[in-house]
Order: sequence, then structure tokens, then C-alpha cells
Amino acid sequence: MTATLENLLAEGVEGRKILVRSDLNVPLKDGKVTDDGRIRASLPVLEKLAAAGARVIVTAHLGRPKGQPDPQYSLAPVAARMAELTNVAVAQAADLTGDSAKASAAELQNGQILLLENVRFDPRETSKDDADRAELAGELAALTAGNGAFVNDAFGAVHRRHASVADIAEKLPAYQGDLVAAELEVLKTLTENPARPYTVVLGGSKVSDKIAVIENLIPKADTVIIGGGMVFTLAKAIMKYPIGKSLVENDLLEDPSVTGLMELAQKHGTTLMFPTDIVMASEFAADADHEVRPVEDLENGSYGAEAMGLDIGPASAEAFAEEIRRSKTVFWNGPMGVFEMEAFSGGTRVVAQALAESEAFTVVGGGDSAAAVRALGFDESSFGHISTGGGASLEYLEGKSLPGIEALGA
Ligand code: ADP
Ligand code: MG
Repeated sequence: MTATLENLLAEGVEGRKILVRSDLNVPLKDGKVTDDGRIRASLPVLEKLAAAGARVIVTAHLGRPKGQPDPQYSLAPVAARMAELTNVAVAQAADLTGDSAKASAAELQNGQILLLENVRFDPRETSKDDADRAELAGELAALTAGNGAFVNDAFGAVHRRHASVADIAEKLPAYQGDLVAAELEVLKTLTENPARPYTVVLGGSKVSDKIAVIENLIPKADTVIIGGGMVFTLAKAIMKYPIGKSLVENDLLEDPSVTGLMELAQKHGTTLMFPTDIVMASEFAADADHEVRPVEDLENGSYGAEAMGLDIGPASAEAFAEEIRRSKTVFWNGPMGVFEMEAFSGGTRVVAQALAESEAFTVVGGGDSAAAVRALGFDESSFGHISTGGGASLEYLEGKSLPGIEALGA
């Protein structure tokens, strides 16, 4: 059994240095945090440990620095915001495992938090070489001096075989944080025992990002609904429809995973729903002229073969909403159209509304889908769960094993 945070607290943490891997990868602008959602989400575990008398050492990444210190990716603004959000004392080290980190860890008192500098400033964090990662993991573990422990609370990073995510669990007794536990429970429900009917709604921009999820969920779902920019590659590959200048991934048109989708659905008795109408625009612009066209006749409208599909049409949105309304479990990942532009946000809005009003267990996954829910003004509490870890959730739903989870033990 995987050890949990509760198990660790029951063992007692007073005076012990506990290393926590958190997901603090927040957007920054002009040195300020613009969305502190991940900091707020990470605080409960840190505060629980601090309240129990632990000396809490936090490691996290921010952005994609190139394996060396880069001031624009410093966690300093995150430490500042964290200090504003909690009553616990928050210190920050100027490096990861160097002199500053060692001195700060040694000075740390019971009930205090120390945030180490961006773990990706060290090239060993993401190294493909096992020995490199093990070495960094050893240095991180050494900061906890003797009777330490490791808590992984960074669900958004568990699909990475990185030193602070996976290798560290070889160096310290390892525990599952509450955020990781909550995400896994939801994902297990979606893949193992969903209440039925179970509908999966997949949209977004690229088929290549989502095809493995579609393939893995077709056998598990009762209905799989496809919207967003993905529609056009599939419409061209499977139905041979002309699609104008709509988004297309040409290298997938002959790909068996794409051309075989209908058969896969048939084999499992799963209903595959495509849009029947599409909002076609004259160009990719917020103020572009646009009109609704039947999906099988996209190039015969006002803009001919120059037309671009930027949203599902109203009839499709209503049909999708109807299917969602009769479901007991709904997983939604990927906007139905270019929701960032008002004229092309209708499909996403109707689908989000149906989820929000549903009594079913509803899960929203994916960074842009969660952003769409907020941007369109929905109350986050109207959804059963909004997943924080985009890539990690999708890899789980693809059926892949996650190194950060494996490392915590089955
Ligand atoms: P998520 O982050 O939720 O997994 P994706 O990253 O796959 O979602 O896709 C989100 C993006 O897809 C949005 O920026 C949206 O504008 C874009 N998109 C949706 N429909 C279309 C379309 N028809 N044409 C071009 N882009 C689209
Ligand atoms: Mg995205």
C-alpha cells in the first residue's frame, strides 16, 4: 500500500525535516504571480506538516529553464506570494542544494517552510542519465539530515521521471500528498468504475495530443464526443470531407489509430459523436465573418475553400449537451472551439453549461479547458472536479504508468 500523508503525520513529524515536491508552476508577469491557484492548492499539505511541527522543505519547478539559473524563472515571486497567503513563516533559498540551501535548511525551525530555488536550474533534475538524477536526489535528501521523509504532492509532475519526482523516493521514505491522492481517486473512478451512462467529451486543438486518450477511453465509455480543432483531421481522414483551411494534421490522415476509430468504437459498442454543423470563419480572427455550415459541406459557403472551422455549430452543441444531460459520469477535456474569441466560444459555453447543470459526476481536465471554464464565468464549484495536472492526467487516461506514482509504491 502506498503510504499517505496521514500515515506520516501519525508517525510524528515534530522537529523532522520533510521534503515536499509541490506543483508551484504558476504564470508570472513582470515578476508577479498572475494566477496563484497552484500555490493555494499546495498550501494545505505544507500547513498540515508545519502545524505538526515539521521543518518543511519545498522543492518545485517553474517554467522550462535550460538546466541553469535564469532569473526570469526564479521561484522568488512564488515565495513572496506564498508568504502572503499563509501565516506560516516562509523562507527562500537562493539555490537548490548549494550553500544557501544547506544553511537555510540548518536554520529552519519547527513549523516553518523553506522554499528551495527552481529545481530545473539543475540539469540533473531532468537528465536521462539515472546516475545524474540519483546524485541530485541524494543531495536533496541530505538537506533533510538523518530522519527526513519525502512527500510528493505535485500531481502535475508525476508523469516525469525527474530527480525530485521519482528518484528521490529511493533516498527517503516516501509518502503520497493529498493533491496526488485526490487526483488519483478521480482518475480511477473515470477508468475503473464510472457510474453509467459514461460520456467522454474530447476537444482541443491537436489529434496527436489526444488520440491515445480517445483510443484508451473508447472501451471504457458509453459515448465519446469529439469537438474542437480535432474534428477536421478526423473528418478528412475518416469521412473524406473537404475542410477548407481548418486545422489539420496531415501526417495523421493515413494513421491507423485515426482511420480505425469508427471500427474501434463499433467493436466496443461505444457511440462516437461528431459535430453535424460547424461555425466556418473567413479567417482566424476575433472579428472574422462567419456562418454555420453542415460538416459534410464546409467548402461551399461564402468563403469557399478559404473557410476555417473555428467552433462546433449550435445543433451539434445542443446534441452534445443532450447527451451530457442523460449521463451519470462526464469527463471533459479540450474546448469545442476557439473559446478565446467570443464569436467562437458558443460550443464550449453550451457544453460547459450542460456539465455545470448536471447532477452527474463531472470532471474537467486540461489546462485550457479549466481556463475556459473560468474565462466563460462558470463557478468552479459547479463541477465535480477540475483537474490540476493536464499532461499527467492525460497520460494516466492513456493507460500509461506514471513514474512519480510508481516510485511511491503500488
Ligand atoms: P487542453 O489544454 O484543455 O487539453 P488543448 O490544449 O488541447 O486543450 O486545446 C486548447 C486550444 O484548442 C484552445 O487554445 C483553442 O483555441 C484551440 N481550438 C479549439 N478548437 C479549435 C479550432 N476549431 N481551430 C483551432 N484551434 C482550436
Ligand atoms: Mg492545452
